[in-house]
Amino acid sequence: MNGMADAEKLHSELGRIDGKGYKAYKDIAGAYRVDEFILFIDHVQGDPFAAPSRLRLRIPAEDADFPAELSSTRPRRVALEDYLLRAFDAALPRVTQGNRGSGKSGLVAVDTPGQEILERTAVVVAPEYIEVRLVTGLPARGRKVLGFQAREMLLEEIPEVGRRALYFRRHDPEDIATHVRAKEDSVHLRAQLEDLGAVAFVADGSLLPRASGVSDRPLDSSRAVPFRSPDSLRRRVELPGAGAVSGMIVPRGVTLIVGGGYHGKSTLLRALDRGVYDHVPGDGRELVVADPRAVKIRAEDGRAVAGVDISPFIGALPDGTDTARFTTPAASGSTSQATNISEALEMGASTLLVDEDTSATNFMVRDRRMQLLVRRDREPITPFIDRIRQLHRDRGVSSVLVLGGSGDYFDVADTVIMMDTYRPADATEAAARVAAGHPTGRVLESGTAFPEIAGRCPDPGSIDPRRRGRIRVRTRGVSTIQFGTEDIDLSAVEQLVDPSQTRAVGDILVYARKYLKGTLAEALQRVESDLEEKGLDPISPFDGHPGDYARPRMLEVAAALNRLRSLRVSRGG
Ligand code: ADP
Ligand code: MG
Repeated sequence: MNGMADAEKLHSELGRIDGKGYKAYKDIAGAYRVDEFILFIDHVQGDPFAAPSRLRLRIPAEDADFPAELSSTRPRRVALEDYLLRAFDAALPRVTQGNRGSGKSGLVAVDTPGQEILERTAVVVAPEYIEVRLVTGLPARGRKVLGFQAREMLLEEIPEVGRRALYFRRHDPEDIATHVRAKEDSVHLRAQLEDLGAVAFVADGSLLPRASGVSDRPLDSSRAVPFRSPDSLRRRVELPGAGAVSGMIVPRGVTLIVGGGYHGKSTLLRALDRGVYDHVPGDGRELVVADPRAVKIRAEDGRAVAGVDISPFIGALPDGTDTARFTTPAASGSTSQATNISEALEMGASTLLVDEDTSATNFMVRDRRMQLLVRRDREPITPFIDRIRQLHRDRGVSSVLVLGGSGDYFDVADTVIMMDTYRPADATEAAARVAAGHPTGRVLESGTAFPEIAGRCPDPGSIDPRRRGRIRVRTRGVSTIQFGTEDIDLSAVEQLVDPSQTRAVGDILVYARKYLKGTLAEALQRVESDLEEKGLDPISPFDGHPGDYARPRMLEVAAALNRLRSLRVSRGG
């Protein structure tokens, strides 16, 4: 990269290379003073159809002039970055012209977020500057440089977008404050769960249903029934922004969500699994929060498994497979669900979220009649119902279960929430009365305590991101990582919500290899503390900017590695 040059230099370079072959664009890499901005051209694409060029637009903090308190804590800074990213993205189509020739010519884009406010790399609010990382398709006709069009894009349009988005005075201060407050309140609320004795909180008035199965935006407010807590589970909390807020706690222990079909059970559970993230104002779930180590658990038949201890749930298999080190290229419904729980416990999960819609029936319960017909010594499965209380008592792990079919779980529940036309009621006592009046006759099938799940040590040699000798990690959407010669299927990892999180997960798998000496959990703890300290930039393999990461939890990083089919492990301490 050259030193800092003036806009005139870029202007004249673009004039000079106009009409030349596309490779001539390589000459414009560098940093330029463009009006009040610095424009970094970090990576220049090789041709108009290749991955777009990577740029950064930077403005001095004193020009942008955002009040210091908007970024004085990490949650605030993340929220301000998120706000500016959305503002920049919204201004783009109003200023940029769009298609300007062949391939990606004319493209100008930033990494757009969804309904969550996540830590991302697209905007950086630093003490001295604000920086937006963007991609652009440098314009060409065929493969010939369109230098004058590039001038318009780089020297006029992109700075103009920056002008509209990056100055405090161009925004409604109340809008920004609302955004920052939403994040801050959500973080605050989550931090209070422990004192509330709860694994989740759903504020009164929240709107949980989504617009459709393919949209994460809220259902039209004229059709959505606002959440209202049952009195017995209602608590009041104080939040820095919203002040006094009331809502329902989901207590620690074992909680059932019951109710008729289509009464909103799964919608509530889904809101809880998303409650590990913070949401934008207007989402409806701004004040729905969950234990940050809550993990959605489901059956996932066909997934690969590497040396996982599922023996608390599955004993000796008919083919003699050792379930203390369960390894298979294709797990069944019940063994995959047991695996997902053991892997989550290994990573320190403290709440399990389970929906019967996506569970293996034989994993959830064996009723009295089945116990009589199929003898215990012929059945390798210890159903979840016989482990769920031990999990809480011995491991401090709570469970929240959506159930419509099996009342056997009334015996093991601390709290029963009944959904009735989208309204929750406290049915704990009613369920206890039913349980007392109608014994199931089931015999407990588990041992007395829930054993420790041993940590596994991944074999670094089994994690190979290379393809034809070169590191190659790509992602498709939220749920596929192409890792070297393999595809990792993450479609059952439901708490991965943003394609930019998936991109980060892919590159973290490469980055984490240097820490793979002990257990997986230890290695990912090291990664996590790196991310705490330095943010997401260091995981990027590019020399150009990594403007398209969003931060994942280490639980999801582990979930990805655990689904890598080549993974081999040994047992750690
Ligand atoms: P269940 O799991 O009890 O069968 P779902 O949670 O799948 O039910 O909800 C059924 C339908 O009702 C879904 O289309 C969902 O979007 C809608 N729904 C859920 N909660 C609400 C609500 N509070 N207001 C309006 N519609 C809702
Ligand atoms: Mg359901």
